Amino acid sequence: MGIIKLQDKRFESYISKDRIQERIKVLAEELKKDIGDDKPLFLGILNGSFIFASDLIRQCDFPLNISFVKVASYLGTKSSGSVSQLIGLNESILGKTVVVVEDIVDTGKTIEKIDALLKNSGAKRIVYVTLLFKPDAYSKNIPIDYKAFDIPNEFVVGYGLDYNGWGRNTDCIYKIVEE
Ligand code: 5GP
Repeated sequence: MGIIKLQDKRFESYISKDRIQERIKVLAEELKKDIGDDKPLFLGILNGSFIFASDLIRQCDFPLNISFVKVASYLGTKSSGSVSQLIGLNESILGKTVVVVEDIVDTGKTIEKIDALLKNSGAKRIVYVTLLFKPDAYSKNIPIDYKAFDIPNEFVVGYGLDYNGWGRNTDCIYKIVEE
């Protein structure tokens, strides 16, 4: 807790380890009621969600599978522009309840890409879970089913989230000090 410095920026403590863990317990109980009988496949979106996803599944007291995937964009043909794909999804999700686990949903562009990639895959249901949600930035219509914390439009790091690759390895969340 306190202040940390990552490269040229300073960050102050914002959401404590205990608050994060309390919210995760509540989310896990809500997920159990909702999908606890469905043998869901959790899909952690790399890189940012790896800590949240691992804490969340350990609080989920029901049978589940987990995989981690990366959303990659590449330039397609000139007419189609940028194309997205999910790297690492090597199993069929046909008929499955899929729980997409994100670290943060900001504008929603990433979730929109993931939704487009998953919705024709034959999944029975797609559930979106995010650690952090920025309601003032979100501009998409895809409902985010479970959010641990709503936060204002401020840049945060820690607990999996990075600044230029730094700061992921903390157990609480920090927000930027504007100076
Ligand atoms: P989107 O705008 O597509 O919802 O969010 C895109 C990505 O931007 C997120 O997955 C995350 O990697 C990054 N991002 C958005 N807001 C923040 C933030 O406050 N801190 C960090 N570290 N990354 C963020």
